[in-house]
Amino acid sequence: MSTIFARIIAGEAPATIVYKDDLVTAFKDIRPLAPVHILIVPNKEIPTVDDVTADDEAMMGRMFTAARKIARDMGIAESGYRLLVNCRDNGGQEVYHLHMHLLGGRRLGPMLARRD
Ligand code: 5GP
Repeated sequence: MSTIFARIIAGEAPATIVYKDDLVTAFKDIRPLAPVHILIVPNKEIPTVDDVTADDEAMMGRMFTAARKIARDMGIAESGYRLLVNCRDNGGQEVYHLHMHLLGGRRLGPMLARRD
């Protein structure tokens, strides 16, 4: 089933798009958790990272090279950033159209809060 991200990619829903090519589209997260918070999304509708196949390897590589380019364009390449993919319930995934978060512009702290 299509999500809001498919509608954004199709130009049917609003978003601030920062990058687009034949394989991926990137736009600003509507509820940013950092000064830079971009979502890098395959144009093809793939629900989760657990659904990718060998046919998707070019797209998966493009997600990383697009992230690198966007980080440079946004001036956070030198200070550093985090790339994050959530998968299903325990991973905290809300939108079931594969996406990579690009977060930066401040110190992000540890990857997970320790519970012990
Ligand atoms: P997830 O938890 O699935 O990894 O992340 C989903 C992200 O999508 C969240 O950070 C959320 O703020 C963002 N998001 C949800 N709906 C929209 C929307 O309609 N537009 C944009 N730009 N971001 C959205």
